[in-house]
Amino acid sequence: MEFLPEILEVVKKEITASGNLKDSPLAVLLLSDKYDSLLSEEADRIRREVYSDEVYLRGLIEFTNYCKNDCYYCGLRKSNSNLTRYRLTEEEIISCCKTGYELGLRTFVLQGGEDPYFTDEKICSIIGSIKEQYKDVAVTLSIGEKEKESYLAYYKAGADRYLLREESANPLHYAQLHPKNLNLERRKECIKTLKEIGFQAGGGFMVGTPHQGVEEIIADLNFLYSLSPDMIGIGPFVSNPDTPFAHFKSGSVELTLRLLSILRILFPHALLPATTSLWTLEPSALQRALKGGANVIMPNITPKRVRNNYRLYPGKTNTEKEAAQTVAELVSIISAAGYRAVSSKGDVRRI
Ligand code: SAM
Ligand code: SF4
Repeated sequence: MEFLPEILEVVKKEITASGNLKDSPLAVLLLSDKYDSLLSEEADRIRREVYSDEVYLRGLIEFTNYCKNDCYYCGLRKSNSNLTRYRLTEEEIISCCKTGYELGLRTFVLQGGEDPYFTDEKICSIIGSIKEQYKDVAVTLSIGEKEKESYLAYYKAGADRYLLREESANPLHYAQLHPKNLNLERRKECIKTLKEIGFQAGGGFMVGTPHQGVEEIIADLNFLYSLSPDMIGIGPFVSNPDTPFAHFKSGSVELTLRLLSILRILFPHALLPATTSLWTLEPSALQRALKGGANVIMPNITPKRVRNNYRLYPGKTNTEKEAAQTVAELVSIISAAGYRAVSSKGDVRRI
């Protein structure tokens, strides 16, 4: 584990003093709650050094819940017949951006299932319209695995960032989460391609997916370390009764928070969101995530009419709130935690 010395540099004194540093120090860190406050304080010190007290808000637009894939954990999987499917029109997407822009949002995240209806042409047209109307915003895409030509087209159309979690960097574990037609090598190749093209690119994984143990998490940390991503999205797995993983329990909020702090220490410059699944399981975890290294929050500005149908998992909060109310509430939570929601694109600060 080539990166261990760095994390150990940070927590060295306390951990070595404790005598717990044996064969797998990172495993000890992950499994124990003993160092949580130390990790969180150190993560906060580092985030303040790089990003001061700024928190970036991203307007999340869930524009299609159709998906051609069948990931075992996700409510949008194609075999889930217990879901009303929808697509937003380009006009509806632009109208979400208008609302968001007026609320001070300067990044829009277009997220959806892998929906063949949205051809490259349609996606590029949407990106182009947003960038033409709003000169000072960033567009983030989160629409899955595509060919290099497609990624290039999106980049040329003006997209700035792309989120594609690797989900699990351990091939066996990846295969336990996905059907055979999806494979880890292709997923990793896509993330690398996105970086090479010039996107601010992000990976990540769910915490507590079925069959995930400490070794699998360490594989993800290693993969991310070699990737050196601009963004890292982690959130607890939330069990969904409409999926084959219905009978597995959800992931741990505490472990997710611990991992967020570890990620901030390992990746001082990364944009680290406090993800929706985290505050869905535990609303108070939002503040704790901010205090432990997270510097991004993604308020949902999808039209209320369809929001409840973007059901990756049950229990999603804020489905009945207007975008303005969601943003106002988040701004006050951020300020109560001791940070400042800023109206800015919030690009990654590279070294
Ligand atoms: N289809 C694109 C993709 O898979 O990259 C983007 C949309 S997908 C819904 C976004 C993320 O949701 C996935 O990367 C996955 O980690 C997360 N997700 C899906 N089902 C989940 C669940 N049951 N609990 C927590 N997160 C989930
Ligand atoms: Fe589709 Fe993404 Fe859900 Fe997989 S995680 S089923 S690709 S929306």
